[in-house]
Amino acid sequence: MTSYVHSFDAPGTPDRDLLGGKGAELARMVQLGLPVPPGFTITTAACRQVLEHGRRPAGMAGDVEHQLALLEDRTGLVLGDPERPLLLAVRSGAASSMPGMMDTILDIGLNDETVLAVARISGDERFAWDCYRRLVQMFGETVLGVAAARFAALTATVVAERGVDGLPALDADGLRDLVERGRALCQEVAGRDLPQDPREQLDLAIDAVFASWQGERARVYRRRFGIPDHLGTAVNVQAMVFGNRGATSGSGVAFTRDPATGALGDYGEYLADAQGEDVVSGARTAVPLARLREIDLPSYRRLRSILSTLEHHYRDLCDIEFTIEDGRLWILQTRVGKRSPAAAFRIAADLVEEGMITDDEALVRVSGDQLTQLMFPQLDAGSAGRPAAVGLAASPGAAVGRVVLDSATAVTLAARGEDVVLVRPETRADDLPGMVAARAVVTARGGRTSHAAVVARGMGLPAVCGVEGLEIDLASRRVSLAGHRLFAEGDVVSVDGGTGRVYHGHHRTVPSEVTRWLDGEAIDSPLVSAVERLLAHADRTRRVGVRANAESGHDIARALRYGAEGVGLVRTEHMFLGDRRTYVERVLIGTDAEREAALRELTALQRESFAVLLAAADGRPVTIRLLDAPAHEFLPDLTDLAVRVATAAARGCPDEALQARLAAVRRHHEANPMTGLRGVRLAIVRPELVVAQALAAFEAAADARDRGRAFDLELMVPMVSSVEELTAVARSVARAADDVATRRGRVTYRLGAMVETPRAAVTAARIAEVAGFVSLGTNDLTQLTWGLSRDDAERSFLPRYLDEGLLRVSPFATLDQEGVGELAARAVVGARRTRPGIPVGVCGEHAGDPASIGFLAGIGVTYLSCSPFRVPVARLEAGRAAV
Ligand code: ADP
Ligand code: MG
Ligand code: MG
Repeated sequence: MTSYVHSFDAPGTPDRDLLGGKGAELARMVQLGLPVPPGFTITTAACRQVLEHGRRPAGMAGDVEHQLALLEDRTGLVLGDPERPLLLAVRSGAASSMPGMMDTILDIGLNDETVLAVARISGDERFAWDCYRRLVQMFGETVLGVAAARFAALTATVVAERGVDGLPALDADGLRDLVERGRALCQEVAGRDLPQDPREQLDLAIDAVFASWQGERARVYRRRFGIPDHLGTAVNVQAMVFGNRGATSGSGVAFTRDPATGALGDYGEYLADAQGEDVVSGARTAVPLARLREIDLPSYRRLRSILSTLEHHYRDLCDIEFTIEDGRLWILQTRVGKRSPAAAFRIAADLVEEGMITDDEALVRVSGDQLTQLMFPQLDAGSAGRPAAVGLAASPGAAVGRVVLDSATAVTLAARGEDVVLVRPETRADDLPGMVAARAVVTARGGRTSHAAVVARGMGLPAVCGVEGLEIDLASRRVSLAGHRLFAEGDVVSVDGGTGRVYHGHHRTVPSEVTRWLDGEAIDSPLVSAVERLLAHADRTRRVGVRANAESGHDIARALRYGAEGVGLVRTEHMFLGDRRTYVERVLIGTDAEREAALRELTALQRESFAVLLAAADGRPVTIRLLDAPAHEFLPDLTDLAVRVATAAARGCPDEALQARLAAVRRHHEANPMTGLRGVRLAIVRPELVVAQALAAFEAAADARDRGRAFDLELMVPMVSSVEELTAVARSVARAADDVATRRGRVTYRLGAMVETPRAAVTAARIAEVAGFVSLGTNDLTQLTWGLSRDDAERSFLPRYLDEGLLRVSPFATLDQEGVGELAARAVVGARRTRPGIPVGVCGEHAGDPASIGFLAGIGVTYLSCSPFRVPVARLEAGRAAV
């Protein structure tokens, strides 16, 4: 039987899934010879047993016993021993990093007897009682469920009674008092004191860490980051080291590079005379890591060398948690660090430059989501004027919203569609729901490694942290800065996480550096160089083309600047919005004469529009889709008309023309227009509309040719379900082509079909007998495959589905691979069976969705066509899919 417990120094490659990230990395650091306090890991397999059966697996107790004995041997200390007591940290650690979301309990092993031994051995009574009061509090909160606020209140009381300046100023006697009254508080609230038996403490702590996997905040975090619920956490049991032993001790966090920008240098924070959570919680503001050089030069040097060892080992940005005990450096944790989108690009490119990774590897280290964020606008510092408050630039991005002062209010207002900015003294794990709901977060305390900063960067949420002097008064719902009123809850503020500035009111945003560069501005910055390098590599690597969906010369120009290779979708119905609607109306319900005239005008109008598009595309393919919108979108509102007719009649002067119009509209009225007269069906019922559109396209092409300009024209038929439909439309198109040919010479074009009904996907082999290309219309394909309306679902039941976990994401945002994806894959295979080289495009949202592109590339599509802004994202993701 495999063991449920692994020592940190066990041989072999540490298994993350089994040991959790923290456990695996601790084991790895031991193998690298780094100073790690000894200990062992209880596996996630044990946790899963507990989750499933509600009790620990048989055999786990014996394994723990055995490893504990080995640990006692190694340290020469014994758990609960009145002379030489071993103290333990019991730490959570899942396979996917969930910083601060689960529990850790320090100083296990202290009781009324061992605390005296610790005082004796260290020669520092205050230190011993400081550890003990930490244990009482952490155990009380985590195991016994006493609210943190109760301990905070108690601490404030004791501090006040003793007339000292805060907790750090309490002497041994004050801390002893805090221990006693903390234990009484546990008894009062939970009906139970901290057990005096250290073994019992250990067992309860292990159970509590297992249970923290199911805690509210851990669950929220998993939902936000798509981590499965059944994985469970590991538990690391480790010998304590002490950063709270006076001025020669301390705790800190360090990064190998700046997680906000990716730049090299000293990044991190250090807090002297501090244990554990003091740094991360932001309760006391730490000093920049560079200061450690002055405080303890040998430890600083040691730390830098360890950071370099780790970065070379992981070949990536690492962050670590460390503790210095009386001048001796210990590493307590490392992981490949979270980073801002800008840092992700910069670090990936720099590591290639430094010879640590290849361009292919660099491509995998960044994502289309990150690139999207780099293209978001930023606050316009010029127009914003003087900032109302300035803090640390903890997580880049700009946002505007109403100030809210607690997580619950943020969630409530966001659910009503409000943009909110969460303003907190500091954030803790239970602020996570509010952070998920907010557009930005601002904190008074905490550095760039504080909880708020780390979590915000991971989420791409703009954050400004450590605004000195910011006071949040929850009673009056007001925020002040250095004693002056700053804003009240509900006020609108603008936040720039890239500069650390907060402004009153709603401010203008400006294009980001990356967007300006994409638009052709020469920008000399490490970020832009990194994006340029990785996009260039993506272009070299990808096997999928990228086109854009565009209806204007302006959009096409932008798409080409952003790297599009053509236009994969021109939605011609977009050219008949507003006043132009009446052209189609007249074709549909006008008299013969009206129809003739409307068709002529429509052809002329479209000919001009198409000429502009062909010119802008400059020889690259342009796919013009025949009119697709349902007929009712071009007709006047039925009720409206009926009212007008009735009013006229009531006034005694009936309007006959209006009556005729009403009758015609009524004849065209459909109960389900989205599955009614639209797309190919409209093309078959009104072939003259197809001829008019095709004529316009061919004339525009002939015009281009006459002017010596290259063009590459495709006509595409929407909503096709059968090859017979396509054949019928092909005849109309051929008529127009012949007509132009006799007058102006033959124009070359390809005719293709959208595959956007399930039947088209299933019969793609037949459709390819007539189609020269096909394009997967994944929006409608999703709508029709699920049988759900895109326009209504997002408002009515999709939110419920997402809440209850029936769906992880909306199938309209990210392709449903299992269902819609299966049909899409089938269509590719079918079409190629008939015509091996047939181009298969994808148009629709999914072509620009980072989470769908890998799949689409995998089923062998020829090109993606997405909105111009998504083009760089599609290039990048298509490149990533190919390495
Ligand atoms: P998290 O996953 O929330 O970061 P950790 O298990 O890393 O939780 O513990 C939180 C803090 O407790 C750490 O930052 C570290 O400073 C402190 N800590 C953890 N293990 C030890 C140890 N063996 N000795 C001293 N302090 C520790
Ligand atoms: Mg940690
Ligand atoms: Mg469609």
